[in-house]
Amino acid sequence: MAGLRVNNGKHSLKKLVFDCVFVLLMFAGFWAVLYALIKAESPETYFIVFVFIQIAAFLYFSAYAAAVIAVLSTLVAITAVITGSLAVKVFGAAAILIYWGIVYFLSLHISREEDDCGRNKILLENMQMKIAEIETAQKQGAKLIPELKKGIASYEKMAEFSLKLGTTFSLKDISMFIIKFTRSIFPEAEVSLIKQAQDACDSWVQSTQKSVYIENTDRDYKFDLYNSGDAASIIACPVFDGEKIQSIIKVKDEAGKLSPSELRVLTLIATLSSLAVENVKLFETTQNLSITDDLTELYNHSYFMERLREEISRASRHGEEFVFLMLDIDHFKKFNDDFGHPSGDEVIRRVSAGILKSLRTTDIVGRYGGEEFSVILPRTDLKRGLVIAEHIRKTIKKERFDFDGKYAGVTVTVGVSSFQDYREEAKIIVAADEALYEGKKKGRDRVVSRGDLK
Ligand code: GH3
Ligand code: MG
Ligand code: MG
Repeated sequence: MAGLRVNNGKHSLKKLVFDCVFVLLMFAGFWAVLYALIKAESPETYFIVFVFIQIAAFLYFSAYAAAVIAVLSTLVAITAVITGSLAVKVFGAAAILIYWGIVYFLSLHISREEDDCGRNKILLENMQMKIAEIETAQKQGAKLIPELKKGIASYEKMAEFSLKLGTTFSLKDISMFIIKFTRSIFPEAEVSLIKQAQDACDSWVQSTQKSVYIENTDRDYKFDLYNSGDAASIIACPVFDGEKIQSIIKVKDEAGKLSPSELRVLTLIATLSSLAVENVKLFETTQNLSITDDLTELYNHSYFMERLREEISRASRHGEEFVFLMLDIDHFKKFNDDFGHPSGDEVIRRVSAGILKSLRTTDIVGRYGGEEFSVILPRTDLKRGLVIAEHIRKTIKKERFDFDGKYAGVTVTVGVSSFQDYREEAKIIVAADEALYEGKKKGRDRVVSRGDLK
């Protein structure tokens, strides 16, 4: 029903003109038909056609126009009732009822339509607002998606990184992982792990223990970096070893390229790295505690014996030689008696340092017990072993210990044996022990060997 459509917006004027033209045409039609009815020989036929045309007009036209049509049609019908035959009278009366019935129905329908329309209009406006909101969110979402994808990828990598760090127990490996991983997150940037401050920015991180983010060094006057080369973006985060800074992870890219969200990523890397450093330290401490002697920090007896067994099997496998030394501080009991036990402890520490000082890093030194030390000199023959033992003896003899103004020196006696001559753990130890005992008997402060000099 085109006539019942709600007029809105720009079509209303057009519709008004159209309605007016239609009403005028209808008026003209009425009077033409009315004239025909009055004048015609058989008005019933015309009248019936007229009624159907009117009903069609009602259905096509708006309720207001329909009311006008109804009034006019009623006039026609009344005329027909007055002037017509009995059939026309009955039909006219029925037509009047039908006209007004239709008007009543249309008016009811229109008011409901108008109500629905108002509601629908609000719903429509709400929906339009929602659509606009969704469109904006969609546009923003589309912008966020690549960033989110990047974020997810870097967090996945981060999980892998933390797993790897968790199973790494050397600081060197951890440093390598940090650099490698940070490079994979910032592939276009320059990544470095700084141990010693190189510029104002590093010094600031070290002194404040905080991270730094500089979007563009040319526009940053805090660190005075604008004349330190091309303009750049910099992020620097501290990696901690407990309370102090172990290193600084620094990422440098073209000016404006690094964003605050990347500062968060690097901070996370630095935090994970700090945890890993702490882990390594704890691991090293527990490892050391179980293999070193508290007083001297040399290998303890049981770990030294393990190393001796390893050395025996290694030397057997590769047909190598090694020399075993057993050292004992001379008259140590007297030293303890004269200067007290704490001074005795200090002497033990200093003697162990003297032994270490005289050796290569590949040599293995343990505290065998009390004031006795044992040494393995890998890939060394007896002749060379005796030279090294002599060197240790002299180094320790040169030391002067100052205890409350009293100067004292200590000497050691060294028993020497070689793998070449004794081959087995127990025999090597007994031979060195016997040589040591012989040295003590001969007057101490000397090196004595068991075995054949070649
Ligand atoms: P020798 O020249 O025959 O070796 O004489 P010595 O007095 O060194 O010999 P001895 O083995 O009889 O004495 C070793 C002393 O070392 C006994 C003990 O009091 C002392 N001693 C052992 N372990 C420690 C230690 O950890 N600290 C201190 N201060 N003394 C220790
Ligand atoms: Mg002893
Ligand atoms: Mg002794």
